[in-house]
Amino acid sequence: MFSPFLLYSDGRGNIFEDVSLYAAGRSGWDAVPVDEEDWILLPEGGSLYELPGRRGIGIDVRTGNMRLCEKGWAVAAFIPPAHTGLYLAAYETEKDAPTLPLFCYTATGWHEDRFYVPALRIEQDIRQEALGYNEQNIKKGASHLLKSYPHNRLVKHLMENCCMTYHCPAARNFSLGRWECPVPVSPACNANCIGCISFQPQEETIHSTQDRLSFRPSSEEIVEFTVPHLQTAAYPIVSFGQGCEGEPLLMWEIIREAILEIRKHTARGSININTNGSRPEAVHALCEAGLNSIRVSMNSARKHLYEAYYRPNNYVFEDIIESLRIVRQAGGWTSINYFVFPGMTDSIEEYEALRKFIQATGLRMIQWRNFNIDPDWYLGKTGSAETGTAMGVKNLMDLLKTEFPLLKFGYFNPPMERIRGNFEKDFAS
Ligand code: SF4
Repeated sequence: MFSPFLLYSDGRGNIFEDVSLYAAGRSGWDAVPVDEEDWILLPEGGSLYELPGRRGIGIDVRTGNMRLCEKGWAVAAFIPPAHTGLYLAAYETEKDAPTLPLFCYTATGWHEDRFYVPALRIEQDIRQEALGYNEQNIKKGASHLLKSYPHNRLVKHLMENCCMTYHCPAARNFSLGRWECPVPVSPACNANCIGCISFQPQEETIHSTQDRLSFRPSSEEIVEFTVPHLQTAAYPIVSFGQGCEGEPLLMWEIIREAILEIRKHTARGSININTNGSRPEAVHALCEAGLNSIRVSMNSARKHLYEAYYRPNNYVFEDIIESLRIVRQAGGWTSINYFVFPGMTDSIEEYEALRKFIQATGLRMIQWRNFNIDPDWYLGKTGSAETGTAMGVKNLMDLLKTEFPLLKFGYFNPPMERIRGNFEKDFAS
């Protein structure tokens, strides 16, 4: 067993290890030691960030005491999809430090010439493996789609913006004719999430990571490319609700029309919607049209914390419970896109609320997502001066597994083969 050394940067993008300090983790507001068995090699596709205006906190290798690293700025890791971080990077933030952009900031350390992170692989599906993307094939696939659908604004947006500019893994998989195909439809939203990745208010210093869709596609434009994808792709899924749009349920009439038309041409694959779950009546109409699965995004199963983050317009926390219930009762697959914040997500208060949420909705799957947000900014904006007693993310998972043995864990929307077949085997591998 080992403890990796703390990493720091010189502020010019150069990273060094401090052999006088072991790396620590962060849980809520606290710097904490990380159990040795929680460290894994930084997975392929991961990257490192220097954190300006922040001093790393580590464990003195001689005294065992926590102290600051004064040699440079703190360093954090962005861990790739399919992995869930167990601890945030531990640091002290200086008064005028800039707000960090919308990425996840997992703890990281150095041991025997390798970078390590406290994380676990929560999903075996390989659909977003960094090594699975061949740039040449993506370019060829993108130009083929643009030629095949010359008048389709949505294909143009997906290939020129999402695939070739934002490097969205889902849009890149669509260009390669495989797995989950993204279908953004909504230029508007009925929530005002603090960490919205498609729209950030002028007064905020950080920027959204992609621009929000600027037009409403027609159902014809949607059907034109989704039917061939469902008919030909491996483990096919078409997913409404993407990072480059607002809330898809605000466009439910267009989605309903598209689903009805799609199912006239093919019964293959899964039709999924990633959503904030705000409109149960719209969800009901989509289930009647043939929707197969829903994924509702949430930062917390506690009403006050959910509403402090989502700042909803004309809907309430109870609506998302109702939306999940409706899909469950219609025989569809239900997941939550659960933003993991170590120290908050694994607090006893959150655990109790999540148990009730799972019981109330009959939830089928938790997708344990890393929360792409500046931790101090999030806690400050949600008024979380106290984060409660943390039990550890792994312990939380074990407790839920014991109480809800049929509840699935992962990171991606499951294909129909996995929903109807062997969940542990039937997926892209
Ligand atoms: S629900 Fe989605 S699009 Fe709407 S504000 Fe939140 S993150 Fe942004």
